[in-house]
Amino acid sequence: MERDSTTTPTCIFCKIIHKEIPAQVVLEEDHYLAVRDINPQAPTHILLIPRTHIANVTEFEDVSELGRLFQAARTVAEHEKLERGFRLVVNTGADGGQTVNHLHIHLLGGRFMTWPPG
Ligand code: 5GP
Ligand code: ZN
Repeated sequence: MERDSTTTPTCIFCKIIHKEIPAQVVLEEDHYLAVRDINPQAPTHILLIPRTHIANVTEFEDVSELGRLFQAARTVAEHEKLERGFRLVVNTGADGGQTVNHLHIHLLGGRFMTWPPG
């Protein structure tokens, strides 16, 4: 896909979206890509990555993007047969533990999730 102003050349998730670095793709839709996390924290650990580069939830302009991402989470959870439940995580900013500054939802499942998170 051609790069345009909605992407950032140095962003690792933009590179995954543009197939410049490999990833294990679970689902590929118009607005997002679902890929397996390179360092899984649960038997199922998938990242839902919007195609548009948005740093995090403090930055997006189109609120419908978030609705689409949650819909994507539901779709991927069904695809992965996570009937027993799952956890969605959106790390935001430094204290939130965000390490990749391209908005994404972690979809974790396949084991019981403890609370509180670390
Ligand atoms: P954050 O810490 O920003 O919430 O989550 C970033 C996630 O991206 C981490 O769980 C990390 O393991 C994952 N990650 C970082 N680099 C890559 C990569 O090149 N490929 C994949 N599939 N996941 C990555
Ligand atoms: Zn990006």
